[in-house]
Amino acid sequence: MIVRVLGSAAGGGVPQWNCACKNCEGARTGRIARRTQSSLAVSIDGKDWLLLNCSPDIAAQIEAFAPLQPHQSRGTPIVGMLLTDANVDHLGGLATLRQGGAGGFTVRSSAVVREIATAQPAFSPFAQPPHRWLEVPLDRTCQSEGAGDIVGDELTVRAFSVPGVTPGYDGRRRLQGAVVAYEIAERGRDDRLLFAPVFASIDDPLMRAISAATVAVVDGSFYSEDELLAGGLLPKRARDLGHQPVGGAGGTLERLSAVRTHLIFTHLNNSNPMLDPQSSAHAQIRAFGADIAYDGMELRL
Ligand SMILES: [Zn+2]
Ligand SMILES: [Zn+2]
Repeated sequence: MIVRVLGSAAGGGVPQWNCACKNCEGARTGRIARRTQSSLAVSIDGKDWLLLNCSPDIAAQIEAFAPLQPHQSRGTPIVGMLLTDANVDHLGGLATLRQGGAGGFTVRSSAVVREIATAQPAFSPFAQPPHRWLEVPLDRTCQSEGAGDIVGDELTVRAFSVPGVTPGYDGRRRLQGAVVAYEIAERGRDDRLLFAPVFASIDDPLMRAISAATVAVVDGSFYSEDELLAGGLLPKRARDLGHQPVGGAGGTLERLSAVRTHLIFTHLNNSNPMLDPQSSAHAQIRAFGADIAYDGMELRL
């Protein structure tokens, strides 16, 4: 399985258009890497690709990665998407892809996410032919839905609910299925990718899934609970926004200190000191043995 990081930033990207924080300025001057909004693409054969979330930066991400570009006068090697939640930075790219896919896209999400997202005019066409928007069963393996469906045929996929809330535009409701994570493996193989770019805390099912994964791509939105407040950027704490911080007491590093899985932090908010290779937060991640995702990062499982 080929796993390609298309984008590695939280909503807004790095730099964010309306932000002049240290990281955004650093990205503008080239001191730190630029990042688009987070998404992965996975493929078995390098021909058909499944997107894990579909960010508003999808058009630029396709142009930056030739295997996702069309091979005929009109077309796309992208066959479908798995969505973790209904946040606009995770599905806003659908609005860009609405012209595409003669055969349509197979979009999958939890029932809650489908209900919230398809109530929005920008996304509702994906619940109609030629597209289809399927509900992923929670805690059970997804079944193939016929020819051309790489889920079930080539990939074994299981979704499960993780602690989290619906998006701000839906009132941040705490519902089962508001946020899910995906376990993905090449059919018939044991190596397992866990995609969990958003979680408000690590409960037992999420801990088990992280421990069982070969590679776990996890929520790296915020390093500390109060970095938005401290930076004067937003009067909100990380957990108010549905994200467990990486550092500090009860943070992800502390919770996962006994886990042997290869961890890759993604969905980094531009306030996050981990973005700066000179920072002590960055050094702490490396000393832990974990990685920080970057746009263009590629793995093989
Ligand atoms: Zn996000
Ligand atoms: Zn910024």
